[in-house]
Amino acid sequence: MRPFLIAGNWKMHMNADETRAFFKTFEGMISAAPAGVNMLLCPTFTSLNAAVDASSKISGMHIGAQNLHFEDKGAFTGEITAEMIKETGASHVIIGHSERRQYYNETDETVNKKAVKSLSAGLTPVVCVGEYLEERKKDAHFDVVKNQLAAAYAGISAEDAVKTVLAYEPVWAIGTGETASPEQAQEMHAFIRAEFTLLYDADVAAQIPVLYGGSMNAANAEELLSQEDVDGGLIGGASLKPDSFHQIVTFAG
Ligand code: PGA
Repeated sequence: MRPFLIAGNWKMHMNADETRAFFKTFEGMISAAPAGVNMLLCPTFTSLNAAVDASSKISGMHIGAQNLHFEDKGAFTGEITAEMIKETGASHVIIGHSERRQYYNETDETVNKKAVKSLSAGLTPVVCVGEYLEERKKDAHFDVVKNQLAAAYAGISAEDAVKTVLAYEPVWAIGTGETASPEQAQEMHAFIRAEFTLLYDADVAAQIPVLYGGSMNAANAEELLSQEDVDGGLIGGASLKPDSFHQIVTFAG
């Protein structure tokens, strides 16, 4: 049985004060994740410490970063290592989000290096894959996701693969208000599970949580989360408000 993971990607929102305020309100709504559900919120680097402190009383709440560098140290101005993220008390890190692939030259190769580095540092990578609208229109979405998956997991052992989280985020659904239908999500999630079976085996494939991301909100989450292979969500906009994030967590429970 895979537990649900309801994850929020706060992107470039929420300074430390706003982060503390979020958790103060959220704590009033929930003191522990429902059985079988884990929660994760990923603020900016500068809000990580505040998030770790402010969330410490909420059981089942984890904190993650949104990116990392794959080197251990060096002349990489503006970058952050896995160890620095770990030091804040964060446990997860988002890797290969489509915004990073689009705007910051994140490639399949760097996604792989970052996944490997986070695993060796003991951080859980939340690896993101997903196709553009043009690719779906050309019916190339399965190939795109298959290639992204194979590249991201290259050289990662089965033992490490089960420690990862995968997020399927069709780029056309991110921040657009246009969600994949529950059928489209289930179809791709089942495909991803089958690909993990080919890359590893059925046992490994059954253990990796596959989250859906792209305009998930309190109005559509219940149906998406009821799909067999949808193990949670990676939620942008709707994770910034304690009440909508709380409602999505409740649906998972
Ligand atoms: P959205 O973002 O929920 O605002 O579409 C999801 C994401 O980018 O992870």
